[in-house]
Amino acid sequence: MEPLKVLFASSEVVPFAKTGGLADVAGSLPKALKKLGCDVRVVLPLYRMVRLGNFPLHKRLAGLPVRLGGRTLEVDVYESELADGLPVYFVERDELFDRTYLYGTPRGDYFDNDRRFVLFCRAALGLAEELPFRPDLFHGHDWQTGLIPALLHFRRLRDPFWADTASLFTIHNMAYQGLFEPDILPLADLPWEAYTPAGLEYYGAVNLLKSGIVYSQIINTVSRKYSREIQTEEYGYGLEGILTFRRNDLFGIVNGVDYEAWDPQTDPLIAASYGPDRLQGKEACKADLLREFNLSPEQAAHPVLGVISRLADQKGFDLLAAVMDRLLQQDLSLVVLGTGEEKYHSLFTELAARHPRKIGLRLAYDNTLAHKIEAGSDMFLMPSRYEPCGLNQIYSLKYGTIPIVRATGGLDDTITAFDRETRGGTGFKFQAYRADDFWQSLAEALAVYRNPDLWKTLRRNAMAADYSWENSAREYVKLYGLARERLAGG
Ligand code: ADP
Repeated sequence: MEPLKVLFASSEVVPFAKTGGLADVAGSLPKALKKLGCDVRVVLPLYRMVRLGNFPLHKRLAGLPVRLGGRTLEVDVYESELADGLPVYFVERDELFDRTYLYGTPRGDYFDNDRRFVLFCRAALGLAEELPFRPDLFHGHDWQTGLIPALLHFRRLRDPFWADTASLFTIHNMAYQGLFEPDILPLADLPWEAYTPAGLEYYGAVNLLKSGIVYSQIINTVSRKYSREIQTEEYGYGLEGILTFRRNDLFGIVNGVDYEAWDPQTDPLIAASYGPDRLQGKEACKADLLREFNLSPEQAAHPVLGVISRLADQKGFDLLAAVMDRLLQQDLSLVVLGTGEEKYHSLFTELAARHPRKIGLRLAYDNTLAHKIEAGSDMFLMPSRYEPCGLNQIYSLKYGTIPIVRATGGLDDTITAFDRETRGGTGFKFQAYRADDFWQSLAEALAVYRNPDLWKTLRRNAMAADYSWENSAREYVKLYGLARERLAGG
């Protein structure tokens, strides 16, 4: 049987370019799909970040013509590999992508993100035609690729090349929708008939996330719980109506983890390796982490709580701020790694200045330090307001670093609450988005920590949890099949 051909379009892909969890997914899911027999290829823009990484790239296509707002631009396409026989294509157009950031500076989005991502989406189709690589399925992610299902929808009608290509659209975060002026339609060469509430119109603008939702055969989010939550007003960010309308085509598949990168038994970035049956290495990692943050080695006698995060409203830092006084009365220390919104930079800078002996702070993006925090901490905090999937809590499990999470989205799907009676469970969770509830979970975690026997069991439970990609990739292959059935009229 011919392998299923999948073109995987993502605006970020590990190890080439990353701002968040999407990149981790796009860097590891294709590898798992390939192992299941798919012929999968990945496409992303050639950002400055990619160039700085010095990856071996070779030119695959020169002067590919891409229509943009009635003009034709030429782009070159470069190629690299994600794994043996798994090509990654990079769309080069320097005046659009050779910039410091992927989507915008800390002060706001780039003013021409419409141009940038229309070009990217159209180039993705163009390169498939030119290679040629006629995909059975286009797998797009988030608003940056939301135009692809719409482009396919209108092309299928008149171009036999695309007649049988279905699309699956994965939503990694409802809060980022890609809103643009209606003139993005002629820029993308899409007809005005798409500009209706049943199409991609959204209160007088064009909404690219909505475009992905409306025009793809199947939609999914990155956890089951989040796929239900986004059908409500609280989590749907205005798109709950259309999502509810499409609920029979809406699924949830929890993200897997690339254990080649995130396993304390083989992680080259941490001070000492360790595993479920030999935990001494974790002590060395804790000592190393305290040193890294200039905290006293004596703190090793007490729990170290870790945070690694984009500093954004989503992540629940107002709750963390609200419990901070109570928290810091305990014998413990807190290490925080993150970048993002200015107000959280100030918040953590002030807190760290007030409690220099208990708080270690690094306002940066630093992958090595992220690994050291996973390895050296005892607990990991994720009190998110919402969390489509969340990866750090899953990494934490593997590193025996107990997650304390709010029961939302993927956090609820991946962490089970520890029960002292049955001794089952992998972490601590609270339901309502309230500081007192968060505090109760923290207090319970600290109490269990003080009981070495219980803590050992809990840690063993956590480290045994398995979120490798294989299971999730199988579910994706099922959705690919379903999307193709839907397109064929099933
Ligand atoms: P989101 O995609 O909402 O940012 P996830 O938990 O799904 O959240 O994924 C975040 C990813 O980005 C993880 O791999 C995490 O380790 C990484 N990350 C986030 N902030 C930083 C940082 N400041 N330094 C290093 N890695 C970070």
